[in-house]
Amino acid sequence: MLGLYLKNPSEIELREFVSTSLKDDEVKIKLIYGGICGSDVSVFKGKIAHATYPIRPGHEIVGEITDVGKGADFEIGKRVVVTPNSFCEECEYCKSGMPNICSNKKSLGVNADGVFSQEFTISSKYVLPVPDELTDEKAVLIEPFAVIVHAFQKVQITKGTTVAIIGCGTEGMLAITLANYLGANITAIDINPFKFKKVREIGNIRTALPQEVKGETFDIVIEAAGARASVEQSVDLVKPGGSLVMVGLTPEATFPVTQMVRKELTLYGSIIYNFPSDFLKSIEYLIQDDFNVDAIISKQYKFTDYKQAYEAAVSGQYGKIILDFKEDK
Ligand SMILES: [Zn+2]
Ligand SMILES: [Zn+2]
Repeated sequence: MLGLYLKNPSEIELREFVSTSLKDDEVKIKLIYGGICGSDVSVFKGKIAHATYPIRPGHEIVGEITDVGKGADFEIGKRVVVTPNSFCEECEYCKSGMPNICSNKKSLGVNADGVFSQEFTISSKYVLPVPDELTDEKAVLIEPFAVIVHAFQKVQITKGTTVAIIGCGTEGMLAITLANYLGANITAIDINPFKFKKVREIGNIRTALPQEVKGETFDIVIEAAGARASVEQSVDLVKPGGSLVMVGLTPEATFPVTQMVRKELTLYGSIIYNFPSDFLKSIEYLIQDDFNVDAIISKQYKFTDYKQAYEAAVSGQYGKIILDFKEDK
């Protein structure tokens, strides 16, 4: 079976792997699609401090069960997604219902071998069936969208809530899609106006460069760019009494503390999701016919064209890049 292999940052190749045998609690999954995530790009560039090499990259997939261990309750042929973040069920955070911040968390494709291979095995506790009505193209978005579903639970977004979303990458675009679905009054902000065309495919959404919203304030600001300048601007953009939800990962930024205190601003950090609850909510939205995510996926490549796919992802000029692992018929 073929899989991607990242020897060192920027050194990616396709390798033949031996299929591993199945443990009792495991299932074997044949990939249909894999999505290249911002964090895959960061691992590729060597920008994540806790990433380990060599590593098999990838963590966003939809696939099909091809084999089932004795103790795993799944049917062969069922389409599934996986959570790529492990949880121990034993630490203080897991026990209080927050496996997303598990002390023993490992992340596939970052510090544990990932899933960009024709086939892989995983404990069935990390696997969730996909409803038949959901297309493969939507199913591959369940995991990245669960990040946004989780973040949105920190705040109340309903009809007319003014929401600024900073960063129009995949997570930003998914946040715009959900806020739009909930009837919010959205301003989408990015430094790259090329991305605004895609944003407007989601709906009649106001777009702005960072300098165009100077002096404006919003009920809720969602920081999904993960850049120092946008984090620093985000505080200015929150209305007094409002909330800032931070989804992007910026190593460092300076916060105007006096302004934050005087505004009585509420700051939320939001990391990944809880499994399976946020995946199930993610599916509930994606399954709606009028929940349109066509604007999110911008390119598909056969997985053997991984070099071009990674190049496109690294360029940052596109939306979600998808690797197609289906066998040629
Ligand atoms: Zn991801
Ligand atoms: Zn834990």
